[in-house]
Amino acid sequence: MNIQSMTKSELSQIIEQNRFIPSDELLKEARTVCDTCYGKNIFVRGLIEFTNYCKNNCYYCGIRAGNKNVHRYRLTEEEILSCCDEGYKLGFRTYVLQGGEDAYFTDEKICSVISKIKTRYPDCAVTLSIGEKSKESYKKYREAGADRYLLRHETANEMHYKRLHPQEMLLENRKQCLYTLRELGFQVGAGFMVGSPYQTSETLAEDLLFIKDLQPHMVGIGPFIPHCDSVFKDEKGGTLNLTLTMLALVRLMLPKVLLPSTTALGTIDPNGREKGFSAGANVVMPNLSPVSVRADYALYDNKICTGDEAAQCIECLKRRIENAGYIMDMGRGDSLMK
Ligand code: SAH
Repeated sequence: MNIQSMTKSELSQIIEQNRFIPSDELLKEARTVCDTCYGKNIFVRGLIEFTNYCKNNCYYCGIRAGNKNVHRYRLTEEEILSCCDEGYKLGFRTYVLQGGEDAYFTDEKICSVISKIKTRYPDCAVTLSIGEKSKESYKKYREAGADRYLLRHETANEMHYKRLHPQEMLLENRKQCLYTLRELGFQVGAGFMVGSPYQTSETLAEDLLFIKDLQPHMVGIGPFIPHCDSVFKDEKGGTLNLTLTMLALVRLMLPKVLLPSTTALGTIDPNGREKGFSAGANVVMPNLSPVSVRADYALYDNKICTGDEAAQCIECLKRRIENAGYIMDMGRGDSLMK
């Protein structure tokens, strides 16, 4: 299947054909392409959810500013560093610092924590996932030593973006942030939810064409899962099968991309992440946040937060990865994308 040269309408046709059941051929081809580039390795990243304060009001998100039922928390710099210490002992060599867009964490505070992590652990990669910032801010983070930046574009279609976000949030700006991050030398991750309200095969085809243009190092995709206190509380969630189809298509579009099998996928199906590997995914991001705050970082309902996905259970994770026929790789795991 030559995904890379397909037009929007050809891509949406393929998505339509594989919407309910991904064909074995598609999954197999995606997995083979992944094997060719990365072998059977599954890269592990430690996720530190350091603040659930957010100024934005994304309609799908459980920690949006307007949700008064969230118990808000921030980790201190010391707490973030001790998550890293614990992670390092467990073997982690990549830390992903994720949070809402929280003004309390000024550039100065972010840079301070980045440089402390990099000084203490120069062999580790630091990934940020803290939303849309100015070029100047991104530049400071880079200079402080951040290696990677995750910023899902959420949807590449203007009209669709408007239906998922309040007026003041602009797709144009989010896309521009991604190009800026690239230009500054970050390894960048774009991505989108599968099955978000008003999404169609056409908008998904546009997502594929957008990542083809951007050529990101990573693509984060997972099913949309409704949150009970969000604007979309009564909407349907994304399915396992369509998520697998999109993982496979992303793998075929960008053979060398790093592609996580997300927590959201593990949430909607007990073997979701293993199924993700068989569709071409090759990254998992277990939680390194202190157990006491995990439930408060609820982007969606029923998020798995204790058990195998907890970083402390790295042995269980290893067993699960091996039982599925893969090799757990705790190294930095840099992207092969240029
Ligand atoms: N503030 C950061 C991090 C956002 S949270 C930023 O703006 O990038 C990380 C991702 O979780 C989001 O990009 C979104 O795609 C996903 N997410 C949010 N709410 C979700 C939901 N209800 N179901 C599934 N994924 C969700």
